[in-house]
Amino acid sequence: MSRLDLFIDRMVSQRACLDLAVAETEDLQGPIYELGLGNGRTYHHLREKGLSRDIYVFERAVASHPDSTPPEDRLILGEVTDTLPDILGRWGPTASLIHADLGGHNREKNDLFARKISPLIEPMLAIGGMMVSSDRMYFERLSQQPLPEGAVEGRCFIYRRDGA
Ligand code: SAM
Repeated sequence: MSRLDLFIDRMVSQRACLDLAVAETEDLQGPIYELGLGNGRTYHHLREKGLSRDIYVFERAVASHPDSTPPEDRLILGEVTDTLPDILGRWGPTASLIHADLGGHNREKNDLFARKISPLIEPMLAIGGMMVSSDRMYFERLSQQPLPEGAVEGRCFIYRRDGA
C-alpha cells in the first residue's frame, strides 16, 4: 500500500468518523475540542457544519490555511499535556466531542503519545460524549465504537463515554 493510499484512507476515515460523531452527539450542548489544528482541514469540516456548539482548538503553533484559522478566543495555545488539564480544571467534564489528530509520521512515537494523553482526555468528555482519534487510545472507561461505513479499520478510532 502506498503512502498516498494510506493518506487517502486516513482522510476518508476522518470524515466518516467525524460525521458520525457529530450526528450522534447532536443533543449535547457542550463544546467540541479539536486537538491539533495543522492545516485546519478537519477544523474547517467541523465548522462548516454550522453547529451551535463552540469549537475550541488546542495547538502548540498555528500554521493553518487562513480560511481554517480559529478566532483567538477559541484557540488554546500550548502543549496539550499542559492545556488539557488546565481546561479540565476550568470547565470540567463538558466536551460533547473531542477530535485528536496530533500524530506525525513515527507510529511508535504516536502510540507512546496516545498512551500519555489518554488519561488527560478521558475525564474531559460529558456523559454521551464521543472521541474520534487518528491513533488508538488507551481509555479505561470509554467504550470503543464500530466504525461507520466508508471508514478504514486502523486509520481512525471512535470512543464514547456511556456513563459516569
Ligand atoms: N487534523 C489537521 C488537519 O486536518 O489539517 C491536521 C493535524 S496535524 C497532523 C497535527 C497538529 O498537531 C500539528 O499542527 C501539531 O503542531 C499539533 N500538535 C502535535 N503535538 C502537539 C502537542 N503536544 N501539543 C499541541 N499541539 C500539538
